[in-house]
Amino acid sequence: MRVTIIDLVIEGPATDLFSRAMNANFASIMPQMAAAWCEELGHDVHYECYTGFEDLTGMLNEGADVVFLSGFTRSALTAYAISNLYRKRGAVTVLGGPHARCYPEDAAKYFDYVLGFTDRTVIENILKECAPHRPEGLIISAAKQPTTLPSLQSRWRFVAANLAKAPLMKVVPMIASTGCPYTCAFCIDSTVDYQPLGFAQMEDDLRFLVKNAPGVKVGWHDPNFGVRFDDYLSAIERAVPQGKLYHIAESSLALLSEPNLKRLNKAGFEAILPGVESWYDFGNKSKAKAANGEAKVKQVAEHVNMILRYIPFVQTNFVLGLDSDEGAEPFELTKKFIDLVPGAYPAFSMFTSYGRAAPMNLGLQKAGRVLPFPFLFLDSTRSMNVRPLNYTWDDFYEKNTDLVRHAWSGSRVWKRFLANKHLTTRFLNVIRAASSTRVKQQKELRELLKTDLSMKRYYAGESTVLPEFYRAKIEKSLGPLYAALPEGAIEHDPYAYLRSSPEAVAAE
Ligand code: SF4
Repeated sequence: MRVTIIDLVIEGPATDLFSRAMNANFASIMPQMAAAWCEELGHDVHYECYTGFEDLTGMLNEGADVVFLSGFTRSALTAYAISNLYRKRGAVTVLGGPHARCYPEDAAKYFDYVLGFTDRTVIENILKECAPHRPEGLIISAAKQPTTLPSLQSRWRFVAANLAKAPLMKVVPMIASTGCPYTCAFCIDSTVDYQPLGFAQMEDDLRFLVKNAPGVKVGWHDPNFGVRFDDYLSAIERAVPQGKLYHIAESSLALLSEPNLKRLNKAGFEAILPGVESWYDFGNKSKAKAANGEAKVKQVAEHVNMILRYIPFVQTNFVLGLDSDEGAEPFELTKKFIDLVPGAYPAFSMFTSYGRAAPMNLGLQKAGRVLPFPFLFLDSTRSMNVRPLNYTWDDFYEKNTDLVRHAWSGSRVWKRFLANKHLTTRFLNVIRAASSTRVKQQKELRELLKTDLSMKRYYAGESTVLPEFYRAKIEKSLGPLYAALPEGAIEHDPYAYLRSSPEAVAAE
């Protein structure tokens, strides 16, 4: 069969410099694995990573018997529109990836198959049956994450196509483990058992990479890199001669002790993205179990400054608006942290509830705190779909804007530039801050919350009628695909997880 696999890195056309330089490096790893499995099963595979610069509608003319799409929730409407167009041309469509796992009931309205955990058997069974399931698609999941994945060599042609699109830095996605032993309540991986994949294959893949693309960066897609630190680093040290490859990983602060950092530095780790999340919660992953508030700021600042002595790029991740936050203090503490650690790039997510991603979402839905923002706005930066526990919207967005302005002000960007010694880090940190439209967006939102009654009522949960402001943004973002959106796609049931929970089903 002709199988098309589309990885949606972004939801619509892009024009900015950062997207041009980096989007191809954000390709997901599972669409490449699925592509390799389809080839192993004897099918003719066309793989495309959509970075905002390709002609999506032109691809339709190439034809396909089955189309696999994958993307985060912010790309869901794009995926729904593409599925609609392919189905009209007779193809069967499949959705995998984070959106499929978070909102399977909604996705099943627009796809023939919706995937949870996906392994080779799941793909094989779909390709064997390959039948339309309409109006409700089949929701299919393996019992757990796969224990083995295709080799880098078998997915190399897909990786190489993406490397060709990356003009500066070139990142190859790799993975050595799934799940996480930590239990951060908001995280999709908190309920997935930690499971290392084979270290022998990891070494073979790294040797293949040293031979075929020396000098590239390995982007480790492990939810929490280095849980079995010695095993991982020993495998890398055995397979990669010093200076041949560089690495990027997300890792908990708790794993980043000084001896571990020395080894990471020697192995060529250039970027680490630890999650701080909050000054009042999640202390176990920051090695700051006992410390809270200001004491935690000082402890984490010292730790991150120490990391920066070994790793040139450090991005610290924060979640704003968590239930543990109250008043101005959390925002002021984050500003203090930014001043104490000028070399780290701060990234802010707003507390967002992604369907059934995490068990805490059930509690938020029971409490009636989840708002029905269309999927396009659910990317943790554009809209917060959880009504904050301890802030009014106006207060929250005012403090949020003030913090973001502080972090990306000219003087902070300059201090970061001076503190970063690595050229690429300097370049990326400056472009990222300059490309951000977050302050502008949040100011616009605050203004509308004061003046537009439809926005006020929507945010207060008094109305579910989508304000025109959001509808117009969807039309602009999707471009020509807006006309292909299936009926009803813009809206979704934000309480679908609760309604399908065993208690709710039993009560019916
Ligand atoms: S440490 Fe990271 S990956 Fe693990 S549960 Fe927490 S947020 Fe998720």
